[in-house]
Amino acid sequence: MHDDDYWMQQALLLAAKAESLGEVPVGALIVIDDEVVAEGYNNPITTHDPTSHAEIEAIRAAGESLKNYRLCGATLYVTLEPCVMCAGAIIHARIDRLVYGASDPKAGAAGSIFDLLPPDHRFNHKLEVTPGVMSQQCSAQLSNFFKRRRAEKKAKPKPKPKPKPKTLPTQQASRNS
Ligand SMILES: [Zn+2]
Repeated sequence: MHDDDYWMQQALLLAAKAESLGEVPVGALIVIDDEVVAEGYNNPITTHDPTSHAEIEAIRAAGESLKNYRLCGATLYVTLEPCVMCAGAIIHARIDRLVYGASDPKAGAAGSIFDLLPPDHRFNHKLEVTPGVMSQQCSAQLSNFFKRRRAEKKAKPKPKPKPKPKTLPTQQASRNS
C-alpha cells in the first residue's frame, strides 16, 4: 500500500502540468484499492470552462472509466483545499476520503472559508477529510507560480494610454433655430 505522501507527490506532478499550460497549478487524482483510477488538473483557461478544476476533471474521468456516477471506496487527492463547487461534487460523487495539501484561505470550502465537508451526519454520506498532506510543497508550488506571474506582469511594458475620444459639439444651436 502506498501512503498519502506518495499519492500527493503524483498530484503535485499533475499540478505542474497545469502550470506548464499557464494555469494555476492544482492537481488531483482518485485512488481506489491502491490504484489510480483517474487524474485531473486545473484547466479552465485553456478549455474556456470555469468548472475545469482539478477535482472536477478527476471525478469526471473516474466516472467515465468506472462507468459509474458514484465513486464508492475512492480517495481523492488534491494539492489545494477544494472550493465550494468541488466540495459539492465530492459529496455528489460519494467520495469516501478527501486528502488535500495546501489550505486555501481565499476560497477553501473544507474549513478555511466555508465548512461544507463536516465530519458529521448532516449528509447521508460520510466523508473522511485529511488536510495538510505535504502542505509545504503544495503551498510553495502555488506561491512560486503567483510570484513568477507578478514578476512577469511587472516586466511587461505598460500599453500606451488610448487617445481620449473627441467630444462632439453640443446640439444647442438647433434648438434656437
Ligand atoms: Zn474547485
